[in-house]
Order: sequence, then C-alpha cells, then structure tokens
Amino acid sequence: MRLSRYFLPILRENPKEAEIVSHRLMLRAGMIKQEAAGIYAWLPLGLRVLNKVNAIIREEQNRSGALEIMMPTVQSADLWRESGRYEDYGKEMLRIKDRHERDMLYGPTNEEMVTDIFRSNVRSYKDLPLNLYHIQWKFRDEVRPRFGVMRSREFLMKDAYSFDLDYAGAKHSYNKMFVAYLRTFARLGVKAIPMVADTGPIGGDLSHEFLILASTGESEVFCHKDYLGFTPPAADVDFDDVAGLQGIVDKWTSLYAATSEKHDAAAFEALPADAKVSARGIEIGHIFYFGTKYSAPMKATVNGPDGKDVPVHMGSYGIGPSRVVAALIEAGHDEAGIIWPDAVAPFQVGIANLKVGDGTTDAACAKIYKALTAAGIDVLYDDRDERPGAKFATMDLIGLPNQVIVGPKGLAEGKVELKNRRTGARDLVSVDDCLVRLT
Ligand code: ATP
Ligand code: MG
Ligand code: MG
Ligand code: MG
Repeated sequence: MRLSRYFLPILRENPKEAEIVSHRLMLRAGMIKQEAAGIYAWLPLGLRVLNKVNAIIREEQNRSGALEIMMPTVQSADLWRESGRYEDYGKEMLRIKDRHERDMLYGPTNEEMVTDIFRSNVRSYKDLPLNLYHIQWKFRDEVRPRFGVMRSREFLMKDAYSFDLDYAGAKHSYNKMFVAYLRTFARLGVKAIPMVADTGPIGGDLSHEFLILASTGESEVFCHKDYLGFTPPAADVDFDDVAGLQGIVDKWTSLYAATSEKHDAAAFEALPADAKVSARGIEIGHIFYFGTKYSAPMKATVNGPDGKDVPVHMGSYGIGPSRVVAALIEAGHDEAGIIWPDAVAPFQVGIANLKVGDGTTDAACAKIYKALTAAGIDVLYDDRDERPGAKFATMDLIGLPNQVIVGPKGLAEGKVELKNRRTGARDLVSVDDCLVRLT
C-alpha cells in the first residue's frame, strides 16, 4: 500500500476524551472513530489489525474442531422468553420494535439462538459432540462505556457453543476450548492467565476468565508468578486425546489465579512472597460450562444410547477481538506509539522514502516495495512528500515492526537502514540484504 493513496487520518494532538493509552493511540493512529457513545467505526488501519486477530482466533477454533457459522445480530424476543432471560437481562439489552410491533433485540450473546439452531436440526447423541461458533457484533448497553473499544456498547465477539450428551463429554469440550484459548492468546503475543471465575447457580469449577495483566485493567487479579513463564500447548496438540488435554488444563489450573470476585486471601497469602502477583487485569476471554440451563427450558434434547431423550449439556466460550486489539496496545507501546506483536501488525514492513522525486531513491524504494509485496508481505510505502521526521513518527506511532529507511546519503554507499520497532536496533544493509532479511 502506498501511503499517498491510503486513508490514515492521524491526529497530532492527544484526544482529550481518551483516558487510557490504547484509546489514545487508536484515535491518534487513525484506527477507529467514535460515532456515538461506545459505538465505533473501524478505519482501514484498525480493521487490518482486527481482521488479523480474527484470523488467528478462527484458525485455532477450527483446529480444535469447532465449526464456524454466522448468526444474525438482530434476534426475536420470543426465543429469549423461552429461556426466561428476556425479563432477566435488564438494561444492558437493546430492545427494538419492528414495524409490526414485534419485540426484537440486538443480541448481547447467542445462547438462545444457537440452542434453537441445535434443536431444529440435531436428534441423536451420535451427532455429538458439536461446537458451533461465530464472530459477530454484539450490543450491550453498558452503564459506563469507556476506554474506547475496550468497553464499548457495540463490540465484536467470537462466541462458541458446545453441545454434549453428558457432563464427561462437556468437560472434554470445555478442555478443548481451554487449550484453544491458550494457543490463541500465545499466537496473539500476549500472556493470558486463566483465572477461576464465578459459576453462579450452575456450580462446579468449569468457568475461567482469561486475563492479561495491565495497569489500566478493570479487574483486580491475584496469581502465581510462574504462570507468566508457562509454555503454551504446541500446534500438534491432539484435541481428541481426553487425558492429554486434561493434563494441560490441570497444569494451567494448578497454581493460584483468581480475580477479586473469587479471591481467597488465605490461599494467596500462603504463597511464597516472591511468587505473589497482585495486579490489574483485562478480561479478554471467558469460558463457561452451564449444563442444561438453556437446553432444558428450550427442549434441546437428543436421543441417548438407551433410547431416552435427554437435554444436552452446553458450554459457551467468548473472546472479544475488538477488546483484544486495545489490550494488545496496553501491553505493547512506548512514548512514540504502538508496538504490535508481529502476527497482528497492520503492515509488517514500512518503507520511508526520505527524498521523494530523487530518481535513485524512488527506484530503490520501488524495488524493495515490489519485491516484498510479491513475497506476500504487507508493506506500507511512505511515498508522500513529507519531512523525514514526520515519516519516522508515523511509522513508530502506527507500530510497524520493520522499517526500511531509504535516502540518497545511504544509497550513495549502496545502503538502506533497517530499523526494528521493538528493539530500536538499526542496521545499515544493502538493498539485497534488506530483502533477504525481510522475506
Ligand atoms: P466484562 O466483565 O468486561 O463486562 P463480560 O464478563 O460481561 O465482560 P462475557 O459475557 O464473558 O463478557 O463476554 C465474552 C468476552 O467479550 C469478554 O471476555 C470480553 O473479551 C468481550 N467483551 C464483553 N463486554 C465487552 C465490551 N463492553 N466491550 C468490548 N468487549 C467486551
Ligand atoms: Mg459485562
Ligand atoms: Mg466479566
Ligand atoms: Mg465474562
């Protein structure tokens, strides 16, 4: 992409309304634009990152055996009356009337709808297990939308729903998602710690929130420091290996980790002094087993091996990709701007042409741009007629991991400068070496 043809509305001033660094940087870098309280448009740069986050989530959901579907955002209130949640959900639900005075709503989550899809199509235990997910916009009329897309009213969610014959099956489905989440967050370049979460009237221990530590997080968290050094499961993990997956989950739940809601001060205090981490955290994912809470009232049953109809055991599994984008910035930035993990950077390489109009410089930039693009690398080529300082500031602000700085001085010696955004390391290399290093 040539920057001269791109839409990158960068703000020079710090937007006053932004209280935390991710919100500030997302606005400054032209990633998002607020359209109403807690409702955002995603501009080209922001959407690139969001799509990369979604792609990783999708790959790991698919790897675990979950199947992608797409459910609508607008739902009929009748479904929610069946589960009893239409009245219970309260003011967070955006309720809408259509022209025929029918009660509709903008989905804050999809348990009812997916249960309806299931009951209309699945009859036998032989069709289980089943896990259906989608990546779709949700609306929750949050009391205090704030921090940009971190706590917005309209936000993107990957929500998966598992269906099993019994508790044992449901537990394996839960473990699959647990392991998929560990892999997803590791690939996104963050250390997310699974923490015990409230199970409410369902009981049991099958609910975990995945949090990353950040000083601006809204949750208060307590955990064992060793979690930060754990190695995530490998790509070849066998999702059908019941005992193997249980072993991974056991390891990742063996040490103390809880948010303030489930905090056990005595257990935490018993940890060695240097193992205690007491910090703030951001909830980026949440997995939950809820048994027959929806299947029983909504009559989502299957015919079991003994010929009897039984309500299926379900779980739901959420990740907020739009919140993840903000959380990645909270975890990766400096005074100059964003430092993206390579996997989700909007462009992997930025090329700064320091003297637009100079034949040699233009030709060198064109050569690098063409070769990298041909190699399938996302490149942003700053071909604008701008001061070098402004170009450096832009590339650092938007967080391009690798930056190639091309100017007549360096080219006179046959060299371009290769800068690493994260480490700040700069190397003078030939154009050919530069291409070898980046491809
Ligand atoms: P929170 O405690 O932050 O309100 P939640 O527990 O209500 O979140 P869940 O119902 O567990 O959220 O939804 C799954 C995921 O959706 C969350 O882990 C989070 O990543 C994301 N999410 C929830 N609410 C929002 C929001 N208002 N803005 C952005 N992402 C959100
Ligand atoms: Mg909430
Ligand atoms: Mg929560
Ligand atoms: Mg939650």
